Amino acid sequence: MKNILLMNIDLHTHTNASDGKLTPAELLQRAEDRGIRLLSITDHDTVAAYSKVKYSSLTLVPGIEFSTSWNKTGIHIVGLNIDLQSDSICTGVNFQATARYKRAEEIATKLEHKGIRNAFTGAQKIAGNNNIGRPHFAEYLVQTGACASIEEAFKKYLGSGKAGDIRKYWAAMPQIIKWIRTANGIAVLAHPLTYKLTRMKLSMLLDEFIAAGGQAIEVVSGKQMPHETQGLAKLCNQKKLMASCGSDFHQPDKSRAELGQFPPLPDTCNPVWENF
Ligand code: AMP
Ligand code: MN
Ligand code: MN
Ligand code: MN
Repeated sequence: MKNILLMNIDLHTHTNASDGKLTPAELLQRAEDRGIRLLSITDHDTVAAYSKVKYSSLTLVPGIEFSTSWNKTGIHIVGLNIDLQSDSICTGVNFQATARYKRAEEIATKLEHKGIRNAFTGAQKIAGNNNIGRPHFAEYLVQTGACASIEEAFKKYLGSGKAGDIRKYWAAMPQIIKWIRTANGIAVLAHPLTYKLTRMKLSMLLDEFIAAGGQAIEVVSGKQMPHETQGLAKLCNQKKLMASCGSDFHQPDKSRAELGQFPPLPDTCNPVWENF
């Protein structure tokens, strides 16, 4: 798929099938309104949005964002251009759904010890039929007045190193990459700068990611500084990876970036979509 203008491409977005706020139809409409021609819905550990999508004038790249961990860091791996019907994606989605459920029970127990009651039921109600996650717990904490904002809920209870940051249930990184590759997809390390790893650690993570079959990284993820893009492009090329880009859009106004609103990939990169 060549010759598509960069800003018309967004390969990392969420719907309310995970922790986004728009329905799949609303997301597609918003993407079309913004002139996006190539879009991937990459919900956390689920592809449920795709069964709710009917017709769209843009090209939809089947995708997912899997949760896993590396050493003690929670990391995310996006699978792009996956076969949604494949056994491996089905297996992966089922495994991660069970992991999410067990994790949610443990998060609720941890919160109970901190004096917050009924968090499992509360968060589950907010999640509805969709995959439960920390943002649903954050909403519950705000609803009950335990926290003043979602931000505070993550800072106090759910964010990195806090009680609700439980990673042990996720499938391991090599397994996740295998599910993606077996489904004929491309495995992409999502938003590499959010993990706050040193340059050395990020390089080590990428070496393990590549050894396990990982093929790309998000050189651009939402709004980021020019030096960050340059640094990631350099690392991407050094490791001979393909480059992806996306907004990580979750909802209007509150997301890190609007759909399609991020800096272009540097010309030196090998765009992942040219390999679909
Ligand atoms: P989970 O999938 O349950 O691990 O939840 C992770 C999601 O929580 C991320 O994809 C973000 O959408 C959201 N998130 C993480 N940190 C924050 C934060 N500090 N404030 C608001 N949302 C956050
Ligand atoms: Mn999210
Ligand atoms: Mn993510
Ligand atoms: Mn995401």
